Amino acid sequence: MNDLVPPQSARWQIVEAIVADVLCQYAFQEVRFPILEKTELFQRTIGEVTDIVEKEMYSFEDRNGDNLTLRPEGTAGCVRACIQNGLLDRSQRLWYTGPMFRHERPQKGRLRQFHQFGVEVFGIEGPDVDAELIAVTARIWAELGVADAVTLELNSLGTAESRLAHREALVEYLKKVRDQLDEDSLRRLETNPLRILDSKNPEIQKLIADAPSLMEFTDEDSKEHFEQLKSHLDNLGIAYRVNTNLVRGLDYYSRTVFEWVTDRLGAQGTVCGGGRYDGLVEQLGGRATPALGFGMGIERLILLVEEVNPGLFSEESEADIYVIYDEIAASEALRLAEQVRDEIPYLRVQYHCGGGSFKSQFKKADKSGANVALILGGNEMQSGEVTMKYLRDDREQETLSLEDLCERLRSD
Ligand code: ATP
Ligand code: MG
Repeated sequence: MNDLVPPQSARWQIVEAIVADVLCQYAFQEVRFPILEKTELFQRTIGEVTDIVEKEMYSFEDRNGDNLTLRPEGTAGCVRACIQNGLLDRSQRLWYTGPMFRHERPQKGRLRQFHQFGVEVFGIEGPDVDAELIAVTARIWAELGVADAVTLELNSLGTAESRLAHREALVEYLKKVRDQLDEDSLRRLETNPLRILDSKNPEIQKLIADAPSLMEFTDEDSKEHFEQLKSHLDNLGIAYRVNTNLVRGLDYYSRTVFEWVTDRLGAQGTVCGGGRYDGLVEQLGGRATPALGFGMGIERLILLVEEVNPGLFSEESEADIYVIYDEIAASEALRLAEQVRDEIPYLRVQYHCGGGSFKSQFKKADKSGANVALILGGNEMQSGEVTMKYLRDDREQETLSLEDLCERLRSD
């Protein structure tokens, strides 16, 4: 679990602002729900036989003896919140962001407290909205300047019935190669064989390349849904690769599933994953409601931008303007800083707290990365003016009225 401190926090702010702006462009609304939920919520939604529930959750008993869990993902809590707040009598387009917790082996791009942006849409059958959701993510990559570094993988999981038929065929195939399965897969063979397709073991991946494909068992409606989704994506100019082994690590998905993957971050290559979960709302006690969503890992996004488009983070100064002063003008300079903030709200104005010699103040001003120092001394106080000095450009120092100063700062 990492601390986030400057200057890294500025990078987070840049990425978070870009993602939030794009979500706003698509008319998604923000929702916030607790970080703690009843353990049972995650067991029921994510599935008992998944990596998350089997070995990654931070669960504990609270003082009342309730079993609680730090949320490992957002969909379950979001669905619960929507049902409880009666949001699902009409369609909803929602987003959230915040920390998620999984007890995994920490490594680059894999943390125990990590952060996601999540989007969930309720009450729309699709496939138009499936395509729109993917378009949101594509626009986020474009805005972050990483579009060339990610590719879209797409699959359809069909319905619960078609998965059942596939399951039988899959188990039959896997039983024939039983002696080549690893421990995890052997256990899943009995409990949740579809998850074997999700295995990260290269030996198992080789085996499942020849396994019966889910697509062979998919019902006609799901097939049609998938065909239409692909044609919407073609029309939007969004490239994809159909990966019939893509099943995602959670049980609740149906029909469309997708992942955006990159080869620029080593083993932790999935930056975004999502799909449709038409059965989940009803399973949690709500009215049957088609639904879909995605989760996007912010740590991996930032690593990817650092790798592919570091220019996005080039501005790492603490302030735009640094205000320094002679002892006698200290209080007046405090007021000057306020006036500049009033006049030009988008500038970051840092007042030098604590006084000291001009030399030491200039040193601090330089270190802050600010472009401009505003200087207030006895003379300026008398004439009601301010001296402005460019710290990075070779330009003359000038003494101006507050009005002229603001005009200059605006035009610079
Ligand atoms: P992986 O296969 O890498 O374990 P996942 O399938 O478990 O990912 P999801 O549950 O789909 O991941 O979560 C969505 C996104 O959240 C992932 O694509 C990834 O960007 C991010 N993510 C998941 N787990 C972690 C983690 N432990 N640390 C950092 N980011 C993570
Ligand atoms: Mg995982």
